[in-house]
Amino acid sequence: MKAKERMAIPRQYPEELTPEERVKNFKEVTFGFDEETAIREANRCLQCKKPKCIQGCPVRNDIPEFIALLRDKKFEEAYWKVRETSTMPSVCSRVCPHEFQCEGACVRGKKGDPVSIGMLERYLTDWMVAHGKNLAKECALPNGKKVAIVGSGPAGMTAAYILAHLGYACTIFEALPIFGGMLSVGIPHYRLPRDIIGAELYSLKNCGVEIVYGTTIGLDKSLTDLKNEGFDSVFLGVGAHDSRKLGIEGEEGTEGVLHGVDYLRRVLSGEDVDVGEKVVVVGGGNVAIDVARVALRKGSKDVFVLYRRTKEEMPASGIEIHHLEEEGVHIEMLAAPIKILQEQGKMTGVECIRMELGEPDDSGRRRPVVKDGSNFIIEADSIIPAISQNVNHTANKGLDMKLESWGTYTVDSKTLQTSEEWIFAGGDDVLGPQTVAKAVYQGKVAAESMHRYMQGMDLCEGRDLNCYMVDW
Ligand SMILES: Cc1cc2nc3c(=O)[nH]c(=O)nc-3n(C[C@H](O)[C@H](O)[C@H](O)COP(=O)(O)OP(=O)(O)OC[C@H]3O[C@@H](n4cnc5c(N)ncnc54)[C@H](O)[C@@H]3O)c2cc1C
Repeated sequence: MKAKERMAIPRQYPEELTPEERVKNFKEVTFGFDEETAIREANRCLQCKKPKCIQGCPVRNDIPEFIALLRDKKFEEAYWKVRETSTMPSVCSRVCPHEFQCEGACVRGKKGDPVSIGMLERYLTDWMVAHGKNLAKECALPNGKKVAIVGSGPAGMTAAYILAHLGYACTIFEALPIFGGMLSVGIPHYRLPRDIIGAELYSLKNCGVEIVYGTTIGLDKSLTDLKNEGFDSVFLGVGAHDSRKLGIEGEEGTEGVLHGVDYLRRVLSGEDVDVGEKVVVVGGGNVAIDVARVALRKGSKDVFVLYRRTKEEMPASGIEIHHLEEEGVHIEMLAAPIKILQEQGKMTGVECIRMELGEPDDSGRRRPVVKDGSNFIIEADSIIPAISQNVNHTANKGLDMKLESWGTYTVDSKTLQTSEEWIFAGGDDVLGPQTVAKAVYQGKVAAESMHRYMQGMDLCEGRDLNCYMVDW
């Protein structure tokens, strides 16, 4: 096919559940492509000589190559091409903010719609499942060394997968009774069905990875205890789970005030959390959007998202914002809460103030500036601030580990070794709240460093951090 013909093919869009149907349940909203649609979309790829999409992908998937294989109907080969660089394509294809990553860098996006890379990757993983194929590599023979992994999120899962495939006996210590970190207690089922997380768990257990639930490192046992128990190295992947506070009057001790990730953790763990009919969610990222959509699905009738800038500056993916509005959530832009109103300890509403956009700040986005005298009130049963999370430091209790001023673990930027030479860290606890693909990337980097550390090798020599030397 000539480039001109490829250019003439319009981007293919997946089918979705209708908004009316999806607010009634937690079923996956977006359907996968069928074979014909996947191949049509794959034909849109120009197979660029210098592909920018690879640079846009945090784990550096060879996107043109897997698309070329898919186009030739070599689906299994195409899947394994992705697996060379990614430990969890079935997760990443569904939840990565592709518009800011691979698709954001796709050359076709300059003059129209980029190739739907995420949906093509998803097609491959769905094809593998539908055809009963093995999703993970063969397990390795034990090499006699053992590793502890703290936290079962994508960073910890990735480190465990790679190290187990190099023969290390891996034990994951997880504080919660559930596996998967934010994949399970943050991202709702309608974006990431739980059988996909189950498949990741299966492939780890299948290679002998042990998972110890309900054990908080730093409370139930310390990092030093792990060393004394004979673990040769530790990976710290505890994420960022402490909700940031608004710091306004009424936030503490008022019934009806919950914080974003705490609310999601409770609901997604099966608890019935009643937030009433009218709910105000504060924030503009993925967490705020998920909180609002979950509240709708749990029966709230009137859900607002309060955001201090405009829709254009919202950090959440465009598709999530689109789905949110389709489902009937109103975004109150250029507004911020300043006081939570209450009667006898129970919330009755939120006093807000209007903002306008000033000069760009360090993030490049225009800074919200208060419009004096523009106060207004929204009556509501509850408010759920979802304005980011901090790292919790229970895990390193008793060890004087170096931290950055914003509370993330200080690591060597190349090797992810912490100030304790036997401990490596990665994911949200190093980057702050970020994305699954970045957590996977750091899990890979750390796993290779830990392998080198335990084998007495130089942590850096001969190593290209964008191209993994270890065969896993
Ligand atoms: C609501 C929500 C929506 C999101 N949506 C997206 C999205 O669409 N796309 C995307 O790419 N990213 C998204 N993210 C971000 C993504 O989920 C995170 O960046 C990613 O999960 C970080 O992985 P991690 O392994 O570093 O940490 P986590 O996934 O946070 O896992 C850390 C694990 O460590 C455990 N732990 C913590 N302390 C201890 C301890 N002391 N002892 C033992 N265990 C401990 C925790 O219980 C948790 O299971 C979202 C996040 C949230 C909250």
